[in-house]
Parts: sequence; structure tokens; C-alpha cells
Amino acid sequence: MPTKRSKKSSSSREPSRLTSSNYYDDKNYMDVSSFKPFLECEAAGLAAYKGEYQLFTDDKPLLVGNYIHSYFESKESHQSFLDKNKKKIFKWGNPDKGEKKEYLQADDMIKTLESEPLFMDLYGPGDKEVIVTGRLGDYAWKGKVDSLNLDRGYFCDLKTVDNFHKGHWNKDYHHPVNFAVDRGYFYQIALYQELIYQTFGKWCVPFICAVSKQDPPDKDIFKFSGDEAKQLLDESLDTIETRQDHIFSVIAGEVPPYRCERCKWCRQTKKLTGATDIMDIELD
Ligand SMILES: [Zn+2]
Repeated sequence: MPTKRSKKSSSSREPSRLTSSNYYDDKNYMDVSSFKPFLECEAAGLAAYKGEYQLFTDDKPLLVGNYIHSYFESKESHQSFLDKNKKKIFKWGNPDKGEKKEYLQADDMIKTLESEPLFMDLYGPGDKEVIVTGRLGDYAWKGKVDSLNLDRGYFCDLKTVDNFHKGHWNKDYHHPVNFAVDRGYFYQIALYQELIYQTFGKWCVPFICAVSKQDPPDKDIFKFSGDEAKQLLDESLDTIETRQDHIFSVIAGEVPPYRCERCKWCRQTKKLTGATDIMDIELD
């Protein structure tokens, strides 16, 4: 039995209820996608949170991900996703002309997953897009679980990945890390595990079901059973809890955001105030 990390909160703030239609607009609860950018650069994170800056200018990877998610959610969800995004998915925005190449590739990724009984047995039966909420310290958090199987005590997150085996340089660790560490998925998994526990009172085992964008697509089911993975989950939740006070103060405008002075947002908003000694240039 894993250690439960649930920590009780003293706050009395009761945010409004979340539904699938107000989930993304809601600002009463923090979510991991909005929070993660603050961990990299608070200035960019804040600008994105306020809608003044787009962290990702290319929405294709997100749309391809949603295309695959909606397919495994239900026929209705997939159809409604296709209807909403007709212009982006179909050639000339016309379903009769066929899909653009990245969505044909997404179909291959879907077929790859569908042909795996292990994936279908794990991901298939769970409830899809389950909204979970809870508190970390004084703050309300939310999450949307891709597939939650409370009866069998696990949840899955479905991820599309370029290549599972690609190394991503990490300047803190000084060595390459895998896509899950690089994309901050440990924050998400740790948080969802905690929020599922706070919402349903059950400690669930996490899995990442992943499919690659290669031809042919690679696929795998990743578990978090080893000591290193468990430790990273614990550390990720600790990081959120340690840093959230300051980040919420930044959001409230009480303290200025920390600027990384490296990212696109910092470069485009940089103002010179004097000269820098040539030997004081900070290196990554
Ligand atoms: Zn920055």
C-alpha cells in the first residue's frame, strides 16, 4: 500500500462547482497545465495565465492529442470534436476531401492502440474525462482524469509522444531525462493521484498509456512502481506545495514575478537598464 500524501487544509474558501463546460474557463481552481509554466518562468507563466501570451503558438500537437482522446472517450465526443474543428482537421475544411496528414497519422496511432488488448482492457473500461478537485494547503486544485477505474483502483493518462527513447537535456540534473520528466508529467500524475483520493477517498495506481508519432507508431504502458518513480512523484507534489504560496501571490499581484531572462516572453519584454559585465553572463 503506497503512502497517502493527503494533507488537510485550513482554508474555508469554497469555490464553485466544476462541469465539463466551465472547466477550462474556471479560475477558482488551479490546474497543472496553468501552474507548470510558473515553475519554469513566473513572468511567462503569469502572462499566459492572464491570456496575454501564448506559450505554444502551434496548436497542432494539442489538437492531435485531443483528436485521439475524444476517440477513446466516446463516438459522440469524437464527432463533436470533429464538428468543432472541421477547418483544422479536414482539407479545405471539408470532410468530403479527407483529413489532413497529421490526422491520418493520428488514425494510425488510434489503430495501434486499439489493436492492443492490454491497452483496451486497461484504458477502455474506465470513466473518461473525470473532473477531480481538492485542496493542497490553502489552495483549490482541479484535474481532469483521462480514464479512471475506481473499482479496479487505477487511473490512466493518455499521452502522445514524439519518440519514447529520445533524451531531453535537463539543466538541473545535468543529464538527459525521458519525455515524462521533461514534460512535467510527474507533477500531473502526483496531483491527480492526490485529487482522486480527495474526491473519491480511494488511492489509485497511475499509468501513462503512450503512443508515439513515429511511422509506424510505438506504444507502451508506463507504470510508476519503482523507487525512483515513486520518489519523483513525492518530490513533485512537494515542489507544488512549496512553491504555490509565492506563485499565488504573483497571480494576486502582491509580488512581482521572477523573470528567467531566457524564454521567448522574457526576451520580448526585456528592457535595458544599463550595461552587463561581459563575465557576468549567466550560463545554463
Ligand atoms: Zn522567462
